[in-house]
Amino acid sequence: MKQIDVIVAGAGIWGCTVARVLADAGRSVLVLDRRSAAGGNVRCETDSETGIEIHTYGSHIFHTHLDDVWTFVRRFTEFNGYQHKVLARHAGHTYFLPLGLTLVNQFYGLDLTPSELPAFIAAEVAKCPHEPRATDHEPRNFEEQAISFIGRPLYEAFISGYTRKQWGTDPRNLPASIIRRLPVRASYDVNYFSDTRQGIPLRGYNALFDALLDHPSISLELNTDWLSWRETPAGAALAHVPVFYSGPIDALFGYRFGPLPWRSLRFERERVAVQDFQGTSVVNYTDADVPYTRIHEFKHYHPEDAAVMSAPSTVICREYPLTWKPGDEPYYPVDVPAARELLALYQAESAKSPRVVVGGRLGAYKYFDMDRSIGNALETARSFLQENS
Ligand SMILES: Cc1cc2nc3c(=O)[nH]c(=O)nc-3n(C[C@H](O)[C@H](O)[C@H](O)COP(=O)(O)OP(=O)(O)OC[C@H]3O[C@@H](n4cnc5c(N)ncnc54)[C@H](O)[C@@H]3O)c2cc1C
Repeated sequence: MKQIDVIVAGAGIWGCTVARVLADAGRSVLVLDRRSAAGGNVRCETDSETGIEIHTYGSHIFHTHLDDVWTFVRRFTEFNGYQHKVLARHAGHTYFLPLGLTLVNQFYGLDLTPSELPAFIAAEVAKCPHEPRATDHEPRNFEEQAISFIGRPLYEAFISGYTRKQWGTDPRNLPASIIRRLPVRASYDVNYFSDTRQGIPLRGYNALFDALLDHPSISLELNTDWLSWRETPAGAALAHVPVFYSGPIDALFGYRFGPLPWRSLRFERERVAVQDFQGTSVVNYTDADVPYTRIHEFKHYHPEDAAVMSAPSTVICREYPLTWKPGDEPYYPVDVPAARELLALYQAESAKSPRVVVGGRLGAYKYFDMDRSIGNALETARSFLQENS
């Protein structure tokens, strides 16, 4: 049997990064994933009719200001320079997000300059004291917090309905802590992310994962759930080997303290017989009476691909938030005190078995952008190498 130095359970971007760093350092790595392909939630499909790259688990745009991550990821792919812009549909009109001069001027029918905007927003906020006013003047929930940043009209048009759909509850039931900042840009910059390094892998996300795992010291076994595989003779024979696990932390302990709550999503995909459906990659639907939150149109992620852009049809996808139940795909951790308490119990269990390093978005029970996932994986793998040199 081939020698295995390390097991990586989960071939998402976190696991693949760990695997590559360890393989580059001379370790022989066995990567297991319970799905039939590597890539985790960043995995894409290609539409057979149009060649469009479809982001199976929702739109993924790479963006970062982390030098180390940028240097690492560009060893495996070039980026196409796509710059993300998001539009919002509200009451029959289309606006440019994020909140900034473009949106505010259009929404209020004004022509504010950058220096006039902060005072205008402050006056809007002053018109709408919290209702009912908290005695300590501290916003007590999501709604009060958001209104304290942007005032009620903008909140109701662009935040309230979207948030209600996203979290399946009245925003007044959500903690203020979800929304720590709601900046209003005093400029006409409608670039959604402030990171200058952004884009989509030129040959697609799947090619990025192929390149990450393309190393003679990495072997990949798909359709293999490590939690059950470790009980098999093959797994038992490697019971001494360090494991980097990026599955759900509660599953690792058989949901001993109960399942951690998640928010899930349902994607409804449609091929439409028009060259261009909405003129951009993502439109948010902010009104509560539209049941979906966003429509994605994937061809716009590859403006450099003339064949895809000129294809006579397009693929769109409506995104519907869902109440999660065990067995559903987990998308967003639910940041409520009960979940934090549960997580602390699982983390305490995990600390007792240092042979299994738990990470990634499911292991940390935390939303991470891809660059943060890679950054955390680089750090985790490098400190393992330092401790085990
Ligand atoms: C809707 C949505 C949109 C997003 N958009 C962006 C974006 O635009 N830009 C951005 O930077 N980030 C985005 N993200 C974040 C991005 O998806 C994450 O950063 C990334 O998926 C984290 O990778 P991961 O490896 O930690 O987890 P995952 O991608 O979930 O990978 C975990 C892997 O582990 C496997 N696994 C689980 N349990 C086991 C087990 N027991 N045995 C074997 N394998 C197992 C799973 O099958 C999976 O392949 C988005 C996230 C969501 C929810």
